[in-house]
Amino acid sequence: MSDLIAPCPTDQGATRRVMIVGGGYAGTTLAVTLGKALKRRPRDGVEVILVERNPCQQALSELDLVAVGPEAPEFCELWLPAALKKLPVRTCFNRVKHMDPLQRTVTLEGGHVTDYWRLVVCTGAVPSVPPVPGLSEHALTMWSVEDAQELQRRVNGQLKLAARMPSADQRRDALSITVCGGGATGVEIVGTIGQLLPKRAAEIGLDASDLRITLVEGRDAILFDLPEAQRTIALRRLRKLGVEVVTGSMIARVSHDHVTLADGRNVPASVLVWAGGAKADPHAAGWGFEIDPTGRIVTNPDLKTAGFDDVYALGDVAGFHDPKTQRIVPMLAQFAIKQGAQAAKNILAEIDGTPTHAWLPHQLGEFVSIGPSWGVGWAGGVRLSGVAAILMKRLTYVLYWWRVGGFKLAFARGREMLSMQR
Ligand SMILES: Cc1cc2nc3c(=O)[nH]c(=O)nc-3n(C[C@H](O)[C@H](O)[C@H](O)COP(=O)(O)OP(=O)(O)OC[C@H]3O[C@@H](n4cnc5c(N)ncnc54)[C@H](O)[C@@H]3O)c2cc1C
Repeated sequence: MSDLIAPCPTDQGATRRVMIVGGGYAGTTLAVTLGKALKRRPRDGVEVILVERNPCQQALSELDLVAVGPEAPEFCELWLPAALKKLPVRTCFNRVKHMDPLQRTVTLEGGHVTDYWRLVVCTGAVPSVPPVPGLSEHALTMWSVEDAQELQRRVNGQLKLAARMPSADQRRDALSITVCGGGATGVEIVGTIGQLLPKRAAEIGLDASDLRITLVEGRDAILFDLPEAQRTIALRRLRKLGVEVVTGSMIARVSHDHVTLADGRNVPASVLVWAGGAKADPHAAGWGFEIDPTGRIVTNPDLKTAGFDDVYALGDVAGFHDPKTQRIVPMLAQFAIKQGAQAAKNILAEIDGTPTHAWLPHQLGEFVSIGPSWGVGWAGGVRLSGVAAILMKRLTYVLYWWRVGGFKLAFARGREMLSMQR
């Protein structure tokens, strides 16, 4: 096992080491943007290291397709060595165990300690699972390719089981797939299940009526971040896909085959997905940074952490306060990407001895997929639904792949996505 623990491949001559911890949307954008700038105009003594526990970035926003679509995890993976191969960025595939901003050091799994000139914390978020009896034992969360593959495995197992069952009631119980959480993540997962699962069921001789697909949301409506008219459209679409939407009561208990709501209703659930929320990487709270009440690292307008002029925090782990709305920016890939780009500019400015600049969040739009070929949302004040909305959502990600992986990768991803529009 110890052979698998990578030390940091540091350049002993470097006087300004930039350590980026976490190669998700924020960290990868930063590493690529900084790498390209340093390739164009190298600066003396500067070294950039990206520390990431996986050798590939997992694009979390596409997990629903891995969970229910064709078995193709590579669909949402970006191999970091390939993306960074021509850039002056070193990669270190290891987990950061500890950060000490007072000593300016980072400790890796295996005990290696590395110092830095600038540290960028981009370690993302984790699912937030409330202490509801039975929930953590029986529910799957959706936060990695492995989670998505586990959902695929469980659903396949239930399909095979149901195919051997003689009664329709037994089959519906065996194939009761329930997703808890009516935010974008839960709606995307249940929508993809609603669109693709009947086709899979038909392939093994089952009927759409053998499936019972349910979305449970504790509040009175789903997709609270979207305008009301869009929520109604989304609800209609889910119902059209055969998804039953249960709102207005929190879950109180979970057993191996059903969920009990606080108002006493029972919802069958032979497979249960918990998509009820996320919280910032909990390790960050133990690293000496100022943490806001929601668990995110408090950041300044230029994306540096409060109290440490040599540490930035970006993406889901960072609690950036939007000066216009007075709210903390939501945990969304689009913000993580933009922060990654701004942090690259600020770090280059610091390398060159010029001032850093404040980052101003600007939400260009928001799209939620409901099945691989349908979406709902808005962009630039225009509300969209259907194919136009899903194309907008996919376009955002193709542009991201282009930015970090180049045209070939974006083209390949675009083609894969179009092949799923069925
Ligand atoms: C199922 C799902 C669907 C989503 N859909 C959308 C969507 O449609 N649109 C949207 O805008 N957003 C969506 N999001 C949210 C979006 O994915 C996140 O906001 C985004 O990933 C945040 O980027 P990040 O760089 O902060 O974190 P991440 O992309 O999560 O990256 C964090 C990285 O840090 C690494 N890491 C963590 N700890 C350590 C450590 N100690 N040492 C080394 N490496 C570490 C992790 O391995 C990971 O690669 C979705 C999220 C989920 C879970």
